[in-house]
Amino acid sequence: MKKATATDGVPSESGKNNLMEKIISLCKRRGFVFPGSEIYGGITGMWDFGPAGVLLRKNLKDLWWKDLVQMRDDMVAVDAAIIMNPKAWEASGHTASFSDPLVECKICHLRFRHDKAEEISAHEKTHKGKKVEWTEPQQFNLLVKTYLGIIEGKQQEVFLRGEITNGVQVNFKNVMDSTRVKIPFGIAQIGKAFRNEITPGGFIFRDREFEQMETQFFIKPDKQEGEKWFEYWKQNRMDFVVSLGMRKEKLRFKDHEKLAHYAKAATDIEYEFPWGFDEIMGIHNRADWDLSRHQEYSGKKMGVLDSETNEIFIPWDIETSAGVDRQMLALLLDAYREEGERIWLSLSPKLAPYKVAVFPLLGNKPELIDKAKAIYNDLKQDYMVAWDDRGNIGKRYAAQDEIGTPFCITVDFETLEKDDSVTVRDRDSMKQERVKVSKLKEYIKERLQ
Ligand code: ATP
Repeated sequence: MKKATATDGVPSESGKNNLMEKIISLCKRRGFVFPGSEIYGGITGMWDFGPAGVLLRKNLKDLWWKDLVQMRDDMVAVDAAIIMNPKAWEASGHTASFSDPLVECKICHLRFRHDKAEEISAHEKTHKGKKVEWTEPQQFNLLVKTYLGIIEGKQQEVFLRGEITNGVQVNFKNVMDSTRVKIPFGIAQIGKAFRNEITPGGFIFRDREFEQMETQFFIKPDKQEGEKWFEYWKQNRMDFVVSLGMRKEKLRFKDHEKLAHYAKAATDIEYEFPWGFDEIMGIHNRADWDLSRHQEYSGKKMGVLDSETNEIFIPWDIETSAGVDRQMLALLLDAYREEGERIWLSLSPKLAPYKVAVFPLLGNKPELIDKAKAIYNDLKQDYMVAWDDRGNIGKRYAAQDEIGTPFCITVDFETLEKDDSVTVRDRDSMKQERVKVSKLKEYIKERLQ
């Protein structure tokens, strides 16, 4: 049996063309992602996550959390409300400029972002040789409005947050006053955000409801400090993405040439999606934009006392902002493998929804089922474990391969009659080994590092 390598089963150049369709189909078939409220025909830009999807997302968020909050002494976390006092959005500039200039195709009236030249030219091609004229770019606001209150006509207009940063910024002082943090330190947050995206699409790449994982790292207001920490966080986040098991050659940095109103420097980490390199994460030097604006709009002091100089300063903020959904899509695309009829997800075991699956060889032999259930219940104390006693072993392996389960354990008659050992089958190499039940936990632990 040959040893599995990282590129075994990576779809060939010709197979890549419909990779997205294959991923979308696998996600539906195996319970990663379903179209939002599908039985009513769905709703554009909304997706629901199924049993395998929630586990993959949870593992991703847990790894992110461990890396940035648990393992660091200079990071704490908050979980701010989705709906904020609307003044916070005025202060952050979102009500005024959280918009992308759009152009409209004069033939079919579809609108596209003015800054997306590739999407514009792809659209022009759909009109097959006709000359496409476009309107002048216009501003549209991306914030999703909703209303609070029960009395019609007296409801308060509010926004679902368009990004999660603001909830951290407005709590900056609360965090400083309630903990022992000192500059430089960071505040991490994971949560949902909502945008009236003009062109939602690319499956879960650009949604109207999505989830972000962000850190805001507050430093002394100094150009050199800013550059130092910006470079630090760029590399730190790239290392994290690589640690998720993604292929390095599919990742790159892309510096922003045109900076957002709040940024002093900005870089994206991009992944090579089937349509080309595109953003999965942003690293921004926001300087003192947010805290200064909140100080101005709220009238509350945001300054920090410098114990050396006795001067008050407003810290600068180096932000890292990653999308759970985009990272999930990139992970799935990167892990997709096929060889003949066989399809498997070569996900890092750290991310795999289930670490182990346990099967009794036959689903109608109580003695096999009892033994397998005992192993299953024991392993469940430590890991998410899948159980399957339907159909034949081949079908069970196929189902686990498609959700990326690294190990499948089969309890057979040899287990009962001979030496209390089980078959452990490896997802990537398909190699099978006999392992003593008493050694199983150790065996799995070693391979999940
Ligand atoms: P794009 O220009 O590609 O729409 P953006 O530059 O507006 O993205 P940011 O505002 O920097 O994105 O948001 C930070 C991260 O949040 C992005 O890197 C991405 O992973 C995620 N994100 C942003 N918008 C969406 C969306 N509509 N759907 C899914 N994820 C998103």
